[in-house]
Parts: sequence; C-alpha cells; structure tokens
Amino acid sequence: MKLNILVTAGDGIGPEVTGEAVAALKEIAVLGGHDFAFTEKRIGGVAIVQDGTPLPADTLEAALASDAVLLGAVGGNEFNALPPDKRPEGGLLAIRAALGGFANLRPCFSFKELAVNSPLRPEVIDGTDIMFVRELLGGAYFGKPRQWDKEKGVGYNTMVYTKDEVVRVARVAFKKLTSVDKANVLEVSQLWRAAVTEVAAEFPDVTLEHQYVDAMAMHIMNRPRDFDVVVTENLFGDILTDESGVITGSLGMLPSATIGGKVNLYEPVHGSAPDIAGKGLANPLGAILTGALILRHSGGLEAEAAAIEAAVRKVLEQGFRTADLARGNMQGLTVLSTKEMGAKVREVVKQALVRA
Ligand code: NAD
Repeated sequence: MKLNILVTAGDGIGPEVTGEAVAALKEIAVLGGHDFAFTEKRIGGVAIVQDGTPLPADTLEAALASDAVLLGAVGGNEFNALPPDKRPEGGLLAIRAALGGFANLRPCFSFKELAVNSPLRPEVIDGTDIMFVRELLGGAYFGKPRQWDKEKGVGYNTMVYTKDEVVRVARVAFKKLTSVDKANVLEVSQLWRAAVTEVAAEFPDVTLEHQYVDAMAMHIMNRPRDFDVVVTENLFGDILTDESGVITGSLGMLPSATIGGKVNLYEPVHGSAPDIAGKGLANPLGAILTGALILRHSGGLEAEAAAIEAAVRKVLEQGFRTADLARGNMQGLTVLSTKEMGAKVREVVKQALVRA
C-alpha cells in the first residue's frame, strides 16, 4: 500500500503528538512492507509567524495533492487578539472547508483501566463503543444570515440544512443508527428527521431510532452502551462529542477523521494545550489512534489499524500512563513521557504484527 501523508503539526503539543503518530505509522510501514511518504507543512500560529497567514498556499496545495492529511492542533494565547479569520483557528476552518469532508467520525470508547478518570460510574461506562458521525460543513456554523448587531443589541445565526446535505451524511452513518435532532421545536430538524428516515429505506438491515438532542445528552451519560452509531448535525455533534469525552476520561485519548471530501483530514480531538507544550507531558495516544484511522479509512489496512488500537489497550493494561491519565491510586502504574509512551505502543504493535 502506497500513501502520501501530509503532516501539518501546528502549534503547542501538535508537533510532539503527531511525531509519535508518524513514528507508529512508519513502524507499520516497515513491518508490512508499505510505502508511506510523509511531507511536513505549516498551519496555525507557526504559519502566521513565518508566512503571515494561518494557511499558506503551499500547505493547501500539498494537502490537496496528498492521500491523507494528519493535523496536530493549532492555537496559542499570543494570537487571541487577532480577528477570527486571521487567527490560527482560521487556518483550521479553511483547510477543513477546502478539503470538503462533511462527515466527522469521532469514536467514543471506554477503557477499563481508565475508569477511575471518568466522573461516571464504571458499571455505566464499561463496554461503551459509540461512533459519532457529526455533519461538519453545514448548520449554524455556516448558515447565513448571521450577525451580532451591537448597535441594536441583537445577535443571530441561521441553522440551515438542505435535504442533500442530510442524506449524504446519513448514508455514511447507517449501521445501528441513532439520529439526533430537535424535531419537536426546529423546522430544520424536521427536515433532518424526514431525510434520514427516507435514507433508511436503502438500509433495510439497519435499525434506526430518533432522539431529541436534549434527551440524548442525558442518555449518553446514563446508558452509553446502548448506542452504536450516532448521526447528528454540526452544533449538536460538537456538544455531544465533547460531553462523551468524559466517558474516556481524558481529551488526550480521542481521535477523529473527517471523510467524504477530496482528501480525508485526520486530527486528534484535543487542542494545542499551551500549558504543557514542550515538556514531554502530552498524551500521544489520541494522535496515535488518529494514525490508526488513517490506516483504516485512507489505506484500507484494517488489521494494522486494529493492531494499533489493541496496542493502546495493552499498554494501558500493563499500567503505563501519561501524566494526564495518572490519577487515583498509582500503585502498579508507571508514568511515561510523550516519547516513552509512543515507543511503548510501537513495541507492542511490533510484537503483535511479527507474531501474526
Ligand atoms: P486543549 O485541548 O488544548 O486543552 C485543554 C486541557 O486538556 C488542557 O489542560 C491541556 O493541558 C489538556 N490536554 C489537551 N490535550 C492533551 C494531551 N494530548 N495530553 C495531555 N493533556 C492534554 O484546549 P484549550 O486549552 O481550550 O485550547 C488551547 C488552544 O488550542 C486554544 O488556542 C484553542 O483555540 C486551541 N484548540 C485547537 C483545536 C484544534 O486545533 N483542533 C481544538 C481545540 C482547541
């Protein structure tokens, strides 16, 4: 398998965690005889400083010419006074829009070993394995008109969806599907529900249920094991996936993939964490699991993706933790730096793939 991967590491802990994800992918390439080529380009604050823009033209060009883009994180306090499109986050929104991915896949899972890190009881979260499919290019984040009219003291946004936008994301999601909307109050949600129900006819083997977003926020906390795939619009997806992060126990564990556009975009869910940048404290597991999603969705390498996911579980079982995971009773646990954790995962991946 040949893959050209563009790495836009970005700011803060971005370079540290993507470094470990790339090292894991290189290990997979060596073990399986695959040809993965990596190119590095700037995005975010580092690009503002060196190129005067958060998304330089050559970064975008390289992204469009690649098979997959691995993005670290962008952002830094020194850029907070800039207008929205000039800030590091402006580069992130611009690359997402240019690549055109509309379905943001955000797996949410529990790790038995990390149950102590979650505020929810272990018996509630144990065995949770949900795939959120968040619509990423529509809804209130893009709808017009939008304005904060400071003179009149009024602000508004428009949550708008076309039927086609709902149908294409629903098709990605059909498995055992829960569709989340607010159809009891919002017309845009009534369209959402009708369009998803129409797509259901194409997937007769799949069970479909609908949930209102307010109820869903509660169900995820009470009975997360009951959900398999959850499809929802942009704003609801933003909120529900962050809420579900408490099941896993640390932001540093969560991967994501955005598919359906010209080039798939892969990012760990967390931000640039300036508070811990450059100290070797960052948890690279979310970025490494993001590497597994590249193998699955851009490389079609399911066994290799599963090997990385299994290796992450194994190192946790063996008692290895990064600082963000080291809470509660530390007996029998070993705290590792970013690089040490990356190396542990590679060691286990190697053992598993060489044995297979
Ligand atoms: P954050 O995700 O960067 O950090 C939140 C907290 O979680 C911090 O205490 C941080 O130390 C911790 N954390 C995050 N990732 C971690 C990891 N891998 N290992 C260990 N601990 C980790 O969110 P924030 O503090 O709200 O934002 C910081 C900057 O990141 C801001 O500029 C924000 O705009 C930006 N941001 C970028 C993205 C992105 O690039 N996709 C996403 C969210 C925030």
